[in-house]
Amino acid sequence: MKLSSRIRAIPSPAGNAWAIYERAHVLKAQGVDVTMLTIGDHDHVTPEPIIAEMARSARGGHTGYAALPGTAELRRAIAARAGEGVGPQNVFVTPGGQFALFCALIAMLDPGDRAAIVDPYYATYPLTVRSAGGEAVIARADPERGFQPDLADLADKLQGARALLINSPNNPTGAVYSRETMEGIASLCRAHDVWLISDEVYDTQVWEGEHLSPRTLPGMAERTVVIGSVSKSHVMTGFRLGWMVAPEEMVRAIWELGVSTTYGVPGFVQDAALYALEYGAQIEAEVTALYRRRRDLAVEALRGANGLRLSAPQGAMYVMLDIRATGLSGVAFAERLLEEHHIAVMPGEGFGEAAAGHLRVSLTLEDDRLVEALQVLAAFAGELARG
Ligand code: PMP
Repeated sequence: MKLSSRIRAIPSPAGNAWAIYERAHVLKAQGVDVTMLTIGDHDHVTPEPIIAEMARSARGGHTGYAALPGTAELRRAIAARAGEGVGPQNVFVTPGGQFALFCALIAMLDPGDRAAIVDPYYATYPLTVRSAGGEAVIARADPERGFQPDLADLADKLQGARALLINSPNNPTGAVYSRETMEGIASLCRAHDVWLISDEVYDTQVWEGEHLSPRTLPGMAERTVVIGSVSKSHVMTGFRLGWMVAPEEMVRAIWELGVSTTYGVPGFVQDAALYALEYGAQIEAEVTALYRRRRDLAVEALRGANGLRLSAPQGAMYVMLDIRATGLSGVAFAERLLEEHHIAVMPGEGFGEAAAGHLRVSLTLEDDRLVEALQVLAAFAGELARG
């Protein structure tokens, strides 16, 4: 039987960005002690009070179909967090920020419409655009510009586009968009009359500069959808709890998309998230402090290394390493690092062409082992660079 052209169009023509990750798991299953610095998942369990609240909620009876698009209390808490001018009517709760991205694109794109994304991009973006029936057009944010988007290139790519998807603090690059960049982006969105999706799931992980949500800029609230999540901020990746903050009209319009897909997010998960947002300030501060410390340790460990260059991340839980001096591609380096040293990192090529010759290392390992792994990686890059 023939599969739809829509489903066949989703996979990346550039191949499987996750091959290294899968290979690492195969090695692990064979008993090899692989150091996993691949995906952005925490190396520790969700804090106990959040789990306890989830259990309390479930035992208390919140196990039936839950309110769409989110419980009144959670929508209120998310609105309060989102800042001035946002009310519960602007909030749509989703199973993870990833599904919020999909919903936003479905609500913006007609089949074949273009959505611009910024390269290097989070690896799911092109897939999500295609899942929503759109075509991804790629604007560049090259390493030489500190991974800030090139606004002239972006203006070009926005010709005829319906939407622009940005992410700051950025995965994979660690860039935090400056006020100048954000204002430039906002002005381009207004000039080209495009929707803006601002993926802000790393808004609690800012190491340098300041997080500025473009929704707060003049004339932007009506055309911006902000994507949020408790995955990174409260160690809740597996809970699948995210949201979009959007114009009320869009929230009403995607109600039926919720009905026809997920039928809501489990009530006990929503209650756990409500607890995290209302009482989890200390948990959040501790998680932020942990990644800040590891980021500083990584920068220190790689300072002056031969064969690689690190631009210190301004935000998020990764470091991007430029390994072009070794003469290897990111893929080739990552493959050899895995086979020869049993360290798994993501090749930059999985995040777009602008990240070619780079590696993304996630800071998801306890301090000492992280520093040790980075030293091994740096020594390997040094050897390769010397030839
Ligand atoms: N956006 C970015 C940039 C991410 O890195 C991630 C998770 N790695 C997500 C969205 C999705 O997060 P979640 O679905 O867990 O909320």
